[in-house]
Amino acid sequence: MATNPAVKTTTKPLSKLKEEICDIGRRIYNKGFAAGNDGNISFRLGPNEVLCTPTMVSKGFMKPSDLCIVDMEGNQLAGERKRSSEILLHLTIMKERSDVNSVVHCHPPHATAFAVAREPIPQCVLPEVEVFLGDIPITKYETPGGQKFADTVKPYVKTANVLILANHGTVSFGETVEKAYWWTEILDAYCRILMLSRDLGRVTYLTKQETKELLDLKQKWGYSDPRLDKGMENCDICANDVFRSSWGNAGVNRKAFDAPPPMGADPQHAAAAHAAAPAAVAPPAIDYDVLVKAVTEQVCRELGIGAA
Ligand SMILES: [Zn+2]
Repeated sequence: MATNPAVKTTTKPLSKLKEEICDIGRRIYNKGFAAGNDGNISFRLGPNEVLCTPTMVSKGFMKPSDLCIVDMEGNQLAGERKRSSEILLHLTIMKERSDVNSVVHCHPPHATAFAVAREPIPQCVLPEVEVFLGDIPITKYETPGGQKFADTVKPYVKTANVLILANHGTVSFGETVEKAYWWTEILDAYCRILMLSRDLGRVTYLTKQETKELLDLKQKWGYSDPRLDKGMENCDICANDVFRSSWGNAGVNRKAFDAPPPMGADPQHAAAAHAAAPAAVAPPAIDYDVLVKAVTEQVCRELGIGAA
């Protein structure tokens, strides 16, 4: 088969890579991101060889000898156990991104809750999320396992390093196994914080200037972001979700979180905390001057005297 000459192969010994995968498997399991035998991890060994986790094994208790090797079409080349049934998802990402050597797929509960609610992830809330993750898409739902399911990531794979799979879970990818996993951990922590702050009654968005500083930092550190691309200069960086055009097709729409307040028009807008919808019901604001006046008038009427 044709191989991609741009793919960089690793110099690490196979035994070390197997240990790294088992270690990340333990972390995924211990975080509660993979119940039962959920989740799968892969690492590209060369142009046509990929190390991957087996099916029907808990990711928290894998031994290096449990791991399998497949080719870029998913045919098993080595390993006593059967390769993961979701390997086509991993291989599709690797074929689209020659810089990606590792893929991590699991079902972290908070991010998966957004996948089930089909709620887009609000931006411009936490600095680290802006720098490391950026905008996070939700893919179209498809029955897991086949190539049709794997193809659902194609529209997004070049513009993000972590994706939410509708009614399923997450997939993240990077140069190393640990980096590929990081994006999932950061995303799930973020989704949890969003849910907790919404329960407290409000989500405060960063200002335009604060967000711009983060995007500048991101550029300085060598991370790309579609919001920095040409043509996006005049866009509202928080409200103009770059994946918005895909929402209709994936059944995604805003319900739990309001859109961030528009940026630019009103310099005061950023100071205003943004009320979360619709679960938290804030008490109506009381105008004490009006209240005192009404009570005074009522008392005066009862006493038969004119109010001042
Ligand atoms: Zn899965």
